[in-house]
Amino acid sequence: MTFENLPPLLSEALAARGYAAPTPVQAAVLAPEAEGRDLLVSAQTGSGKTVAFGLAMAGELLEDGVPPAVREPLALVIAPTRELALQVSRELAWLYGKGGRIATCVGGMDPSKERRALSYGAHIVVGTPGRLRDHLERGALDLSAIRAVVLDEADEMLDMGFRDELEEILDATPQERRTLLFSATLPKPIVALAKRYQRDALRISTVGEDRGHGDITYQAVTVSPAGIEHAVVNLLRFHEAETAMLFCATRDNVRNLHASLVERGFAAVALSGEHSQSERNHALQALRDRRARICVATDVAARGIDLPTLSLVVHVEIPRDAETLQHRSGRTGRAGKKGTAILIVPYQRRRRVEAMLRGARINAEWIPAPTAEAVHARDRQRLMETLLQPVEADEDDLDLGRKLLAERAPEEIAAALVRAHRAKLPPPEELAEQGEGRRDERERGHRPGFEDTIWFRMNVGRRHNADPRWLLPLLCRRGHITRNEVGAIRIAANETAFEIPSALAGRFMKAVARTARDEDDGLLIEQMQGTPRDAARDNRRHDGARPAPAHRSKGPPRRARHG
Ligand code: AMP
Repeated sequence: MTFENLPPLLSEALAARGYAAPTPVQAAVLAPEAEGRDLLVSAQTGSGKTVAFGLAMAGELLEDGVPPAVREPLALVIAPTRELALQVSRELAWLYGKGGRIATCVGGMDPSKERRALSYGAHIVVGTPGRLRDHLERGALDLSAIRAVVLDEADEMLDMGFRDELEEILDATPQERRTLLFSATLPKPIVALAKRYQRDALRISTVGEDRGHGDITYQAVTVSPAGIEHAVVNLLRFHEAETAMLFCATRDNVRNLHASLVERGFAAVALSGEHSQSERNHALQALRDRRARICVATDVAARGIDLPTLSLVVHVEIPRDAETLQHRSGRTGRAGKKGTAILIVPYQRRRRVEAMLRGARINAEWIPAPTAEAVHARDRQRLMETLLQPVEADEDDLDLGRKLLAERAPEEIAAALVRAHRAKLPPPEELAEQGEGRRDERERGHRPGFEDTIWFRMNVGRRHNADPRWLLPLLCRRGHITRNEVGAIRIAANETAFEIPSALAGRFMKAVARTARDEDDGLLIEQMQGTPRDAARDNRRHDGARPAPAHRSKGPPRRARHG
């Protein structure tokens, strides 16, 4: 099936966008038996459902093939979140082109601008339930001429407690309107809503046909708990996805991972509940116009987000259930494109994840994280491809090229070019040896990931009220590591010893040296020779039972900030 028989305005917009054939849900809403009827549609995000309801409303929106002059809106789309509403609004904007005016009403935006857009006369109003109700109650939104209403992700809206708002809005629209209800699932409250507000609705379900996750390849990567971040870095570098989404469980973890990736040179943005609406819009815009390629997000912040170039999803922290797993993964592999979803699994949780995957009938390939060597090999391959691309050089470039060749051997010039390209790439991490081979050591009592560690000391001890509660955040800030990457902590009278996995020690020391320049607090951190136990033994030999003096200590930190 193709997009024929559509009004030219729409078929041209689709062609310009490069959409040659309808997705199953689009085909279903365009079928003759759906014409003019209420629809109860279960379709997943990524199925092309936004364009589907955009096309389905054409009969109500166009007169003689174009949107007519209007004072009151003809169609209303209600979506659960601001991001989704903005996304819907963008899709409908290209679909209906310049002639179709769209007003977007979402929480967190300037309501007076929205009132103005409404007063100019919009064909379609797209918004979130709370904000739409506000405009309705203040008289800024007139729903008396509405011919079609779409409830997008209706199950989500009810879950979020918007029943009252939805009912109030629907009750303000004409009885003869068309009601299109889109919902990923059809639990009882949705069926009840449909019964109350729809007449003789045609039931459409394309969930099976969309093959929801058929285009997503799943992989699971086992790591030691201290190795999560390195695995993330290497996965990002190995795949070099056009756009990648990383999911964390909490805002704090989003913030930490985002900071660390940016520090390493990745173009990353963060999306979580702690960001204002305008920060979120900026982040999404940066992803759309490719200034950023990585988005670190919480589940809630990423709900409904559609980034067409997103080809990699990494579950940095295990999703809490199979549904979240599918929701997160469903950000990729959309509308026929291929995607990869990778779960990072601390190996003590492998059983749990296996059960979750089995329950969701997902086949995942269990693989180790890519090593630095594997990343370099891929880099070499990609550099070859990039550098062998034909270039259109102008006379100026060629002239400079000739001058370079007169000075240096071609090999040297090519190597400089490779080097310049390589310099833009954040370095991969050397992974600590991990996995099954280390089991016996774990059984001997090491915390996983801390089989091979280096001890450090800092010049703060019990006398300075040393306490892991503020020492840990301090170490994380100064050494750019996460709490999970700090092993045992031994607090003595004048100093504290702590262990860091050997694989991280180099990076840790570099960060400490760098941050020490900015923080003039007298805190000294240095590597120990051996372990605290060796040091204590040595000490006893020298001066009885007193703990080791803290090297060339400049005294306690003058200002130990609490985290
Ligand atoms: P949605 O399910 O509405 O979130 O849409 C997922 C993505 O599929 C969006 O980026 C759409 O622009 C895209 N899309 C919609 N219809 C088609 C189509 N017929 N062919 C290819 N891509 C489409």
